[in-house]
Parts: sequence; C-alpha cells; structure tokens
Amino acid sequence: MALKYHPDKNPNETEKFKSISQAYEVLSDPKKREIYDQGGEEAIKGGAGSGGGFEFHSAMDIFDMFFGGHGRQRGPRKTKDLVHQIKVTLKEMYNGNTRKLAVTKDVICEKCKGVGGKEGAVETCPTCQGTGIQVTMNRLGPNMVQQMQSVCSECRGKKELINPKLRCKVCNGKKTTQLKKTLEVHIDKGMKDGQTIRFAGEGDQCPGVEAGDILIVLDEQDDKDFKRQGDDLLTGLDITLSEALCGFRKPIETLDARTLLVITVPGEVIKHGDVKCVENEGMPMYRSPFERGQLIIQFTVSFPPSNFIPIERLSELEKLLPPRQPVDIPENAEECTLSEFNPKEGRNYRRGEAYDDDDDEHMDHPRVQCASH
Ligand SMILES: [Zn+2]
Ligand SMILES: [Zn+2]
Repeated sequence: MALKYHPDKNPNETEKFKSISQAYEVLSDPKKREIYDQGGEEAIKGGAGSGGGFEFHSAMDIFDMFFGGHGRQRGPRKTKDLVHQIKVTLKEMYNGNTRKLAVTKDVICEKCKGVGGKEGAVETCPTCQGTGIQVTMNRLGPNMVQQMQSVCSECRGKKELINPKLRCKVCNGKKTTQLKKTLEVHIDKGMKDGQTIRFAGEGDQCPGVEAGDILIVLDEQDDKDFKRQGDDLLTGLDITLSEALCGFRKPIETLDARTLLVITVPGEVIKHGDVKCVENEGMPMYRSPFERGQLIIQFTVSFPPSNFIPIERLSELEKLLPPRQPVDIPENAEECTLSEFNPKEGRNYRRGEAYDDDDDEHMDHPRVQCASH
C-alpha cells in the first residue's frame, strides 16, 4: 500500500500515505503495538507510549524500513568495514613492529567524481521510478490481492540508469575504481591475539555514503620456545639429574635477544615438573610496555640411562643419597618382572589355541608383547 500511495505516484493521496506509515510504525514497534492493542488509536495519539504521538517519517525512511534498509540506523550510512587478518609472531608482539599491508579498496572514480558519466548521464529508472523495487499484484479473489516485490530488473535495484553514450569510460559507470594501497600497521608491544587495529575511514568509498573502516585483526603465531598466557610467558627448561640435585646455571634467550642466566640457590633441588618464575620477564603490558608479566619456567629432569655407572659402584652413589625406608615383604609375596607399558596401544588377551594370529581384525591395536624384551 505504501508503494501504491507513494507521494511520487499519487501526490493527492499524501494523507493516505501518512496513515499507512503510521500503521506501519505501530505494527513494527512492539511497545506501540501493545498500546494500540489495549487502548486503540486514541491511546497512541494520546501519547501514552514512548514520547507521545507520532513523528512522521519521510517517505524514504518508510521505504527503508519496509525493505530492510538503514531506516533504523542512527547517524550517517557507511560502507561495510573491510577486515584483514595478519599473522604476527610472538616476537613481534613482544618487541613491537611496523608491518606493511597492501589492501585493495573501492575509491570514487576520479574521472567522473562518482557520478558514473558525463552531465545528464544519470536518470531515474523509469521502470521502478527510482525505488529500485518492482511490485506486481496478483488478484487472488474479489477482496484479495497478493503483492509480490522484487528487485527492479531494469536498474538491478540501483534506482537509476546511466546513458551508455555518456557513461564514464574509466569506471564504466560503476562510479568507483579499485585502488591498491599500502597500510602501515603498527603492532604495539603487548598487543594480543585477536586484537584489531582500526584505520578509520579507509574502507571502500561509495558516492553519497561515508567510507567504512579497515580493520586489521592480529593472528598470533605460536613460538617454538615460548607460549603466551595473558601477560605471562611460559617456557620449558631441560635439566639433567645432576643439575636437578646439585644446582645449575642455565642461559635462556629472551624474545628481544637478551640472555637471562637462571641460577639455583645452592642446595636447592629441582624436581621433574617443578614450575618457577622470573618476575618482570613475561610479555610487556599493552600501553605500559615497561611493565611485564612473569616468565614461567617448567622444568623437565632427564634421568641418566640404565647402566650409566657399573652396577658395583651403585653403592657409592647410594651412600650420598637419602637413606632407603625399610620395606616389609610378606613371605608369600610373588615376584614379578616389569615390562614396558604403552598406554596408546590396546590390549589383546590370548584365548588359547583357537586364537589366530594372522586373522586379526584389530589391526590398529597391535598387541602388547608381554615381557618379551
Ligand atoms: Zn567514472
Ligand atoms: Zn529500476
């Protein structure tokens, strides 16, 4: 109905158009709809609702509301933001870096200044009368009409046509051309994975619409030595059993290529899996880069291999180690040997002679070789 009584088509029916838009406003606003349902038109006009009365919208506002335009959006319309993701190493996030990024975007055609052609080239689409929408009516019965809306086939919803003879040769009437631009992306110390850097107004240009932004999303790459945990850095340190028991001095290369020397207190024993930390050697804090988190060090103690000393000399070693606790062994205890255990492998049990070795359905579960080596 709004299309039928559009002021462009029916200049004498502006009152009718007004009531259509008022009806739409009531129906589209749940609050106003509730007021109408309870108190009727008088309640709406009496202003019992939000702010009272109607604000009459312009015809185009109504059309935008109908056809999912920007009618409800506050402020000027903008083109969509362009989003790019860049891979950033942990080292770059620790030290900061400036990266160059080439982006392609639409810019207003310099030749036609975004008009699409020479003067007089642009005319309102006669098929849809500049609405971009075609409406077809199907009479279904005496009092029933089905209304179909589709994008105008003539102008493809652009609401206007460009005379081919006057069309701009640079942009082919598209009003914009593509431009390759290099952006300098400043990665500040302490920036995080997923953080976005915004280039305001650097998005696609489009005539009559404000340009959106370019958003650069940082994608932090794993580091081979350090793992980030918020403002802290996690690293592993391998030490030998001798170092674990007798102390050590071990260098750690930081992400800014300094060398930290990790030293144990004399007499301190580091157990396998122990976690220690160095204050203020973690990630720099974003916008406060002189403050840093902790460097968390997890220790892996590697034991010497079997038979690292002749068996007869084990007693010498034992004399230096803490004494054993006495163990009570019952008389009927059964001796058993230890075999290697691999938790990833399944277990099969021998089921006597009927078991066929070669016809094994569980090929992905090799059997544990029991005490054979
Ligand atoms: Zn042009
Ligand atoms: Zn059209």
